[in-house]
Amino acid sequence: MTAQSNADAVVIGAGIVGVMAAHYLQNDGRKVLLVERDEVAAGASAGNAGILAFPEIIPIPSPGIMFKAPKWLLDPLGPLSLPPAYALNMLPWLWRFWRASSRKAFAHGIAAQTGMMQLAAGEMERVRAIAELSSFFTHTGTLDLYDSEASFNAATPDWLEKEKAGFQFTSVGRADIERLQPGLAPQFRHAMYSPAGIQVNDPKGLTRAVADLVAARGGTLQKGEVRDIVPHADGATITLADGATIAARTVVVAGGAWSKPLATRLGDPVPLETERGYNTTLPAQDFQLQRQLYFNDHAFVVTPLAEGIRVGGAVELGGLELAPNYRRSKALLAKASRFLPELKTEGGREWMGFRPSMPDCLPVIGRSSASPSILYAFGHGHLGLTQSAATGRLVSDLAAGRATSLPTEPFSPGRFR
Ligand SMILES: Cc1cc2nc3c(=O)[nH]c(=O)nc-3n(C[C@H](O)[C@H](O)[C@H](O)COP(=O)(O)OP(=O)(O)OC[C@H]3O[C@@H](n4cnc5c(N)ncnc54)[C@H](O)[C@@H]3O)c2cc1C
Repeated sequence: MTAQSNADAVVIGAGIVGVMAAHYLQNDGRKVLLVERDEVAAGASAGNAGILAFPEIIPIPSPGIMFKAPKWLLDPLGPLSLPPAYALNMLPWLWRFWRASSRKAFAHGIAAQTGMMQLAAGEMERVRAIAELSSFFTHTGTLDLYDSEASFNAATPDWLEKEKAGFQFTSVGRADIERLQPGLAPQFRHAMYSPAGIQVNDPKGLTRAVADLVAARGGTLQKGEVRDIVPHADGATITLADGATIAARTVVVAGGAWSKPLATRLGDPVPLETERGYNTTLPAQDFQLQRQLYFNDHAFVVTPLAEGIRVGGAVELGGLELAPNYRRSKALLAKASRFLPELKTEGGREWMGFRPSMPDCLPVIGRSSASPSILYAFGHGHLGLTQSAATGRLVSDLAAGRATSLPTEPFSPGRFR
């Protein structure tokens, strides 16, 4: 016989989005059960770059991107790759990505991300104030570096949008660049400096600490893989791989890049894919990384962590099953060593993670079409850490049936129908 039990609110997936959703539901007085098939922070939330990227309101699908992308694809270890073994699977997603790059869709994307990021900054501020979590945040500032005056100038419209949205930054030349980060190669003479930049110095540790907080406040963490969710009059019942069932008033799907099968079974065939990303975490060393460095012309970042320095980025449209190609992390490390000649690149730990990505680069936050009691919180792509607290807020608003802190229509699961 299979075990049956009841819960008030079940959250599926203990990545940063799931644990934040659990935290916010708990703040509303809900008794929360977090169900995770692996360990807390088993997915993308373990190894991301740790940047709270609130000013990143510019969607990746932008007018003209489809002309630039083929050039990037020519370099198999460049910022974007599409492994031949997965290329055909990506066609529907790429078609929608192309449609999301029209001027109208792009403007809509900026407006949606601006609202989301303003909420995200405010909600993360509350999370930072929690005594058990505050040590995970370091105020570093962010230096956005460009290879040439031409690429710096080409980015001006994006920076103007960020300024309009209320984010603050200043343009800096070589002397300031050297002061803000000693040791950068002389080619870097053009940059933007955002003094408000905040670094999560241990993304995996933060995810675990939020899960611990949920547990300390009466929540439960259960190991198990959710295979099915069936709605009923008072909520929904989830079924685990071992056949056990749990009935709950609210169910939240926060399974990151693995959320698609559950949503599809519920009648929401979302076009969720994964943008695989790579990095290497280097041990602590003499080289002093002062702040988050973003190499804009190469789509990778170098960030300061409690344990050392993380070098990573890139996008590989390779699905969930292909083996990692760690030549990509090595290529990023080789570039980092050219750009920061004093960086010691030995002894690092390589990692690949699955960004859960929608074609318009907006997350899925909303009610399932199967039942108002089943909520979605996935698809945050490059920005899941940054938007995790805001997502928790929106999920708790929806679960409580109150007006959401932000209109959720742009994040609707049915927007690609
Ligand atoms: C290289 C790289 C760098 C990045 N840098 C940044 C950054 O600097 N800033 C930023 O904001 N974002 C960054 N991101 C993106 C960010 O990491 C993700 O958007 C975010 O971690 C997604 O969180 P999540 O909780 O949705 O998914 P995950 O962290 O992937 O968690 C999903 C969890 O759900 C579990 N699960 C899935 N299905 C089931 C099931 N059926 N039953 C039970 N459990 C299930 C999985 O085991 C997993 O633990 C980066 C990503 C990568 C890859």
